[in-house]
Amino acid sequence: MRDLASYLGGAWVSGAGSVAELVNPATEEVLARTSSAGLDLGQAVAYARETGGPALRALTFRERGELLEKMSRAIFAERDALIEIAIANGGNTRSDAKFDLDGATATLMSYATLGKKLGDRRLLVDGEPADLAGSRLQGWHLLSPRHGVAVHIGAFNFPAWGWAEKAACALLAGMPVLTKPATATALLAHRTAEICVNAEILPPGAFSLLCGSAGDLLEHLCWKDVVAFTGGSSTGLSIRKTERLLAQGVRVNVEADSLNSALLLPDAEDASVQAFVRDVARDMTQKTGQKCTAIRRVVVPKSSLDRVRDALCEQLATIKIGNPALDEVRMGPVATASQKRDVLAGLDELRAQTKVAFGSSASPAPIGVAAGKGYFVPIALLEADDALAATAVHEHEVFGPVATLLPYDGSPGQALEIVRAGQGGLVASVYGDDRHALAEVVQGAAAWHGRLVVVDAKVADKSIAPGTVLPDLIHGGPGRAGGGEELGGLRGMALYQQRTAVQGNGPLVAKIVGAT
Ligand code: NAP
Repeated sequence: MRDLASYLGGAWVSGAGSVAELVNPATEEVLARTSSAGLDLGQAVAYARETGGPALRALTFRERGELLEKMSRAIFAERDALIEIAIANGGNTRSDAKFDLDGATATLMSYATLGKKLGDRRLLVDGEPADLAGSRLQGWHLLSPRHGVAVHIGAFNFPAWGWAEKAACALLAGMPVLTKPATATALLAHRTAEICVNAEILPPGAFSLLCGSAGDLLEHLCWKDVVAFTGGSSTGLSIRKTERLLAQGVRVNVEADSLNSALLLPDAEDASVQAFVRDVARDMTQKTGQKCTAIRRVVVPKSSLDRVRDALCEQLATIKIGNPALDEVRMGPVATASQKRDVLAGLDELRAQTKVAFGSSASPAPIGVAAGKGYFVPIALLEADDALAATAVHEHEVFGPVATLLPYDGSPGQALEIVRAGQGGLVASVYGDDRHALAEVVQGAAAWHGRLVVVDAKVADKSIAPGTVLPDLIHGGPGRAGGGEELGGLRGMALYQQRTAVQGNGPLVAKIVGAT
């Protein structure tokens, strides 16, 4: 069994005390353990701030980008071994594991490319100059890296991509990173981080890893620092409410739950309907439904309900559930015992207001697993008679292979009412070929979401599934989704930068900020 050490203050260190066990969710075998008890997190934060910060700020964007490229290549070089770790500790199928790992390396590479484009500069200018009263007076907006540490707290479902996407933005912006992955699936986060540390890619202090509970980490932060959190909304709320963070005015970005919807418009062409069914079925079962961007609410015109239900049931019936180490298995277990309890309890809550279109409450007999072992849950497609009356569907995120069919009368107005009932989300997707209806939905849903995916017949076969987060587009959403924003190319660095207005003699200020 492995003991997972943390990498803090430039050295591998182990906590001593209350120990958390990491298990294989298919077999319940204990794989590793870790503890953060007794670690000096104040010193770790100070080391990152004082050693890693200056070293990164001394580099140009091109040089920081080169570091990201090396990290991406180093992780990719061990892809096969990393896939095995994701299968063992995450309950991932091979395809789920690739989704996480390739997301990590692609995002690092995307920010590496951005670094190259930004070139030999250390600071950025935001926008055009403003002409102020007086002929030579102008004001510019300068973006410079914050002089603290970027503390990243990740969720269990994407142990590789989760830390890499945050680190890519912070490191390119010039801020050192202290990343704390979720404990249950930390083996993959630990190994990917270890690869980068062992390869000595980053300057000392630029990267730290904390395994195990966060302990008193937040109590050591100050106004220069940033917290980027991904996880459940109740944890997000407790982090936001941390007195130290409030008192110091620490920037906090929260990426939380979301009841994402997919909406089919009436009279959609066959290709659009097929893409809709394909995306819903994939989102329900990929990573056993444990994706923050997974489609939970399936909004369908009453006229298409039978057709969509039949097609979805047909696709879901082909999914083999079991030990993800087996090639034929298409869906593994959920990640932890508590996750299984939450999914089954959530399913009961939804079922009280809906009927079952596919699946049953009984745990399935998974393939390749000893009887009674593993955190397996059934696939469940539910259906509401009255979409808005099924309130639990719009309020409760069941983080597993569960979605609900929500019929509507075919008007964009009613569809929007249902979509908006999620009270703010990461992503909504709309499928159809009526341009006016598509425009009405996009304009009506935009303020409720961080991302909208529009699929018509012309792009149906090449569209990227709504559950896939892309480095060039922002990720995050208002309301229930936490109100955060990450990624989106340059936009993803804003969290780690201070924007400063600099005004004065126009040509002189332009030179000082590096605009000319
Ligand atoms: P979680 O229980 O909220 O945990 C998230 C992270 O917070 C873990 O690293 C956890 O550490 C840490 N944590 C817990 N209490 C803390 C505290 N008091 N101070 C500092 N850190 C603390 O969430 P999860 O179960 O891992 O993830 C599932 C949830 O994440 C779902 O609701 C999903 O929708 C959401 N999610 C959102 C996004 C997004 O981008 N919006 C992406 C992925 C997942 P330990 O593991 O050590 O407890």
